[in-house]
Amino acid sequence: MKREPWLGTPGSTIEILNKYGFRFQKKYGQNFLVDGNILDGIVRAAGVGPEDSVMEIGPGIGTLTQYLAYAAKQVYAVEIDRNLIPILEDTLSDWDNVEVIHSDILKLDLDRFVEERNGGAPIKVVANLPYYITTPILMELLEKNLPIQSITVMVQKEVADRMQAGPGSRDYGALSLAVQYYTEPEITAIVPPGCFIPRPNVDSAVIRLTKRTNDKIPVRDEELMFRVIRASFAQRRKTMMNGLRGSKELNLSREMAEEAIRRAGFPANVRGETLTLEEFARLSDEILDIAAVAP
Ligand code: SAM
Repeated sequence: MKREPWLGTPGSTIEILNKYGFRFQKKYGQNFLVDGNILDGIVRAAGVGPEDSVMEIGPGIGTLTQYLAYAAKQVYAVEIDRNLIPILEDTLSDWDNVEVIHSDILKLDLDRFVEERNGGAPIKVVANLPYYITTPILMELLEKNLPIQSITVMVQKEVADRMQAGPGSRDYGALSLAVQYYTEPEITAIVPPGCFIPRPNVDSAVIRLTKRTNDKIPVRDEELMFRVIRASFAQRRKTMMNGLRGSKELNLSREMAEEAIRRAGFPANVRGETLTLEEFARLSDEILDIAAVAP
């Protein structure tokens, strides 16, 4: 029988923090969860069961890790703060299915990691993410084509809204398109500041990103499409034409940009924030053709 989680209340958290004289490091985005219902909800939203291997990013003092270890077959928890490692050894000592890795998640060779630890079989990523690097972490997980089934994360509510936003909305941008190209996003909970120690300044949200397998939008050059998307949103007030022309990543002449927009069937003054993912794919395919015949 596995031991049930015992962290996840303000009292047990403060006791551990005091026992080790732990000092929060602002630069690491440390806001620890102290609400059992939210912790249960994250594990449920991620659909973690006894067959699953889970990677947790930033275990902190091991609160969510206990809940994951209780539900999953195996948990790999990657923590950057050296001061938390001895605490994790203590709080996770009742579970033999957790491995703590002391590393910066952005410096870990994730492909190799999943291959070595899990024989390349898909894992679930679950985390209460450090908010200062939410986007770089998600882009790393999405773009690398890693064997990941789903990513269930706590993020700032405003960032979760951006991930789910559609064309025409104020929140729509490069992050929405990247997330929706690779995954199907669903916000599963809104979480107020009082569920954390220390309290963050903003509301948070739990969002589940389920990896797409066979239903990705067809596009001939994925990387080119994301260069086109970045160029279109680099300066929001500019038209698509000016965004494309001005992009160092694309290197298109005015004529080429005009021709691509025309061939894709958009008006000359079209703006990126109105285009769907399918339309960006179409534009990117036209640019590929035009660039291929350019002198
Ligand atoms: N999972 C814990 C919880 O829910 O109570 C802590 C979450 S806290 C928001 C974020 C955690 O990520 C902290 O423990 C922090 O030290 C860690 N962290 C920050 N940057 C990191 C990085 N680049 N790689 C790995 N962990 C990181």
